[in-house]
Amino acid sequence: MTAHRQTKQLEAIRTAFQTAERPLSIEELHELATRDVGTLGLRTVYRAVRRLEEEGEIARVLVPGDSDRYELASVASKHHHHFHCTACDRYFDVHGCPGGLNKIIPNGFKLEHHDLTLSGLCSSCA
Ligand SMILES: [Zn+2]
Ligand SMILES: [Zn+2]
Repeated sequence: MTAHRQTKQLEAIRTAFQTAERPLSIEELHELATRDVGTLGLRTVYRAVRRLEEEGEIARVLVPGDSDRYELASVASKHHHHFHCTACDRYFDVHGCPGGLNKIIPNGFKLEHHDLTLSGLCSSCA
């Protein structure tokens, strides 16, 4: 694989994140990047994603019981939450945070981190 071709593939994946503006799975990245640069193997997308993750450009969004999603590190670094559409299985960013979670933890516990995934139907599926 030429360096030029590889650069184009990485660029297509970056563009996919910028266009979608939501966490993406490998399969979704594959679909979006293929539209951009033409035929692209799923393994190539895996490799490109691993490289971008190693270089700290993208971050993994852990999804219990399903394949991981990825988001841009610049998005991941800002505190936010996710919405999972149970119909189309897509993940979306939720920019607010309810906060106040200190009020519901057991007495004497110290809250250090929280993760919140809302689920339901997205606007296209509702
Ligand atoms: Zn949906
Ligand atoms: Zn929060």
